[in-house]
Amino acid sequence: MTATYGKGRPARAGPSFFSPLRNLTRTVASGIRPFVAPLPRFSGPASPHSCRAGVLLEQMAALPFADLDEITGGATALVLAPHADDESLGCGGLIAEANARGLPPAVAVLTDGSMSHPSSRSHPPPRLRALRRAEARAAVAALGVGSERLHFLDLPDGRAPCEGPGVEEAAARVADLARAYKVGTIFTTWECDPHTDHVAAHVIARTAARLAGARVVSYPVWGWALPRRTRLPVASVAGARLDTTRHMPAKRRAIAAHESQHSGLIADDPQGFRLPTSLLSAVDRPFEVFLFER
Ligand SMILES: [Zn+2]
Repeated sequence: MTATYGKGRPARAGPSFFSPLRNLTRTVASGIRPFVAPLPRFSGPASPHSCRAGVLLEQMAALPFADLDEITGGATALVLAPHADDESLGCGGLIAEANARGLPPAVAVLTDGSMSHPSSRSHPPPRLRALRRAEARAAVAALGVGSERLHFLDLPDGRAPCEGPGVEEAAARVADLARAYKVGTIFTTWECDPHTDHVAAHVIARTAARLAGARVVSYPVWGWALPRRTRLPVASVAGARLDTTRHMPAKRRAIAAHESQHSGLIADDPQGFRLPTSLLSAVDRPFEVFLFER
């Protein structure tokens, strides 16, 4: 849910890198969640520091493969998911592989997920929130991780903060988790994912990593659905792919556990969110992409 993004927020200059991203997010995200309106074919001016999404996505899909330890730094990972489902869509294979090696990650879900079906009478926000928590528990269980390592930060769905005191407050909570689990790397959504909560998660993770002395590694989710001609305010990507072949059955079970997000489970909201098959296909590949800070 993104329709309320920006309402009531002070017009305040943020970090220059994120300003074009916020504009892009406002433009693109309205067509993505729910995935009903056509996406724009072009956004932003050309510059030496920008690149078409199609070029970046091709770069990502051709990144070299790396061992898990090269991606996680060999320490416990904390996966920060903007919504319940992003941990499985973007990191399901990594979570399963880390768990198989005896270093199960911690998972934190940033928002409460209560606005995916805003007009449903059968699933008002409290019931939907509870359902999405249960789905998240089932998903991480499918990946081999106990629910005691799953944490819900319960920020409002569609309104996670990208700047200001809200970022500091959320980052402090994420940093507390990072310290508690002795985390080496915080995994968060790619800053070019065209969804406000995904950009917010990225900003919050960066701040939390500074507080906790951890690295940040990004994973794309909605980025895979960007129109190829969309111009993004980054020139290139750097990172690695993780071979997730042997974990694909578990990853598919984890994604399937988020039934409210991809099925007709909630049938009384015609405008309700449903993960598009294009995105589900994009993450149903035997590798995951992880992007490093430069
Ligand atoms: Zn999401």
